[in-house]
Amino acid sequence: MRRMFINGEFVASLSGETFAVENPATEEQIDEVPRARAEDAEQAVRAAHAAWDDWRFTPGIEKCEMLHAVARRIREHREEVARLLTLEGGKPLIENMDEVEWSAACFDYYAEVGRHEAGRVIPPVQRHQMNFVVKEPYGVVVCIVPWNYPLLLMSWKVAPALMAGNTVVIKPSEHTPLSTLLLAEVAFRELPPGVVNVLTGYGDEVGEPLVKHPLTPVIAFTGSVATGRRIAVLAAERIKRVNLELGGNDPFIVCDDADLDVAVRGAVWAAFLNMGQVCTSGERFYVFESISEKFIEGFVAFTRTLRLGNPLGPDVDLGPMISAAQREKVERKLDRVREMGAKVLCGGVRPEGFSRGYFFEPTVVTGVDHTMPLMREETFGPVAPIMVVKDIDEAVALANDSEYGLGANILTNNLEYALTAAERIKAGTFWINDPLTDNDAGPFGGMRLSGGGRELGAEGIEEFRETKHIHLDYKLEAKPYWYPYDWSKGRKTD
Ligand code: NAD
Repeated sequence: MRRMFINGEFVASLSGETFAVENPATEEQIDEVPRARAEDAEQAVRAAHAAWDDWRFTPGIEKCEMLHAVARRIREHREEVARLLTLEGGKPLIENMDEVEWSAACFDYYAEVGRHEAGRVIPPVQRHQMNFVVKEPYGVVVCIVPWNYPLLLMSWKVAPALMAGNTVVIKPSEHTPLSTLLLAEVAFRELPPGVVNVLTGYGDEVGEPLVKHPLTPVIAFTGSVATGRRIAVLAAERIKRVNLELGGNDPFIVCDDADLDVAVRGAVWAAFLNMGQVCTSGERFYVFESISEKFIEGFVAFTRTLRLGNPLGPDVDLGPMISAAQREKVERKLDRVREMGAKVLCGGVRPEGFSRGYFFEPTVVTGVDHTMPLMREETFGPVAPIMVVKDIDEAVALANDSEYGLGANILTNNLEYALTAAERIKAGTFWINDPLTDNDAGPFGGMRLSGGGRELGAEGIEEFRETKHIHLDYKLEAKPYWYPYDWSKGRKTD
């Protein structure tokens, strides 16, 4: 059994209860972890709060060195961590090797960004005065993370929160707690005890107590809209800050000038990466009429070549979905759109030859429209619905016909198409010709139902710093506007 990480120690839950972590490729139990509840949350928050007293005053250069050490340790254990991520999450190992490297890179990035500045100096309104706008940490930040990119999305919160001078309590998903606990073992021990704590358990049992705790002023959350809404309500009642990174239903436009082979490869990858379980997966494809027939033909043909299998590899493109429940959700949605008249061109079923594991064939659907749930809600599975559009205006209008606004994509070399869409489509990230690529220096987050938080970039650290204005007069003398009032010098009213 792996244990939780509180105040630099590896501990069981106070109740002694545990829960099993399953391999979605084999449905076998990999390990078990403590099942934390409110009393464990209390311990972790107290530890983080006590550690904050010193951490917040630790000079930036020292914090910077420690975060670089964390990054170094993550890289030293890259393969071991990536294998565990693969076992618990089902993404192909080759993708998890990337995830581990990107997580280390995020610690390196914020190690430097976080020591760069801590506010600004503004001009005073009187002589012999100075005015400072100081950025300071909030205290204990709760980081609640989903299962699809467990370490990356954790790092996007933890690295900036720490460099801003906060301490953290991490709550990984109940599906993927093992890799985060492994990082505690191999990397977070570079930090003073209590600065990073990890609690394993379920959302309602330990997530909510963390959100409600009086000593946790900031909740950084990535996950579904439903959970985000629940957390926002709990936080609002307590006037806490929330940073919400929620679901998406990203549009993907393919224009008539796009090279067909390139367009097909890019679109198929955007649809099926991590079995479509990416918050910024291409979930709605809009293709210009003049190339639609060839594009759809190519999309289906290329999809049929994708190799499902053991995500540890080798020679595998797609692993399983995360759980039976997630797969059933996708199946129900496909049943519904079939009833509504959509046509499944390939996939849509569990693959033959896989007696275990939550595998599903990558699926291409046409005959869809915006009355269908596939086009209106997040699917979070390997399903690519394709609609034909007559021009860029129709594509943009359909892309915007959504409650979500996380990411959006276009494939074109036509400047007018690209910039018309970039300007008009409501999305936190707009990708032209390179879908789903993140940049540590570029802010990531959503508009509309996708949440208003931003991670990465300069914006990503601001979410964890609050602003204080310090007004300083370096001459201690009585001011003419103090008591008693001299009415002869008062302001004229006429
Ligand atoms: P989820 O909302 O079910 O769970 C996310 C986390 O919240 C888990 O750790 C869970 O235990 C915890 N949780 C659940 N209920 C809680 C509660 N009441 N209080 C506190 N914590 C609670 O989401 P998921 O299924 O793990 O992840 C998939 C979702 O995440 C998708 O909707 C996807 O789009 C979204 N996502 C968004 C981004 C982004 O950056 N915008 C990135 C990745 C995933």
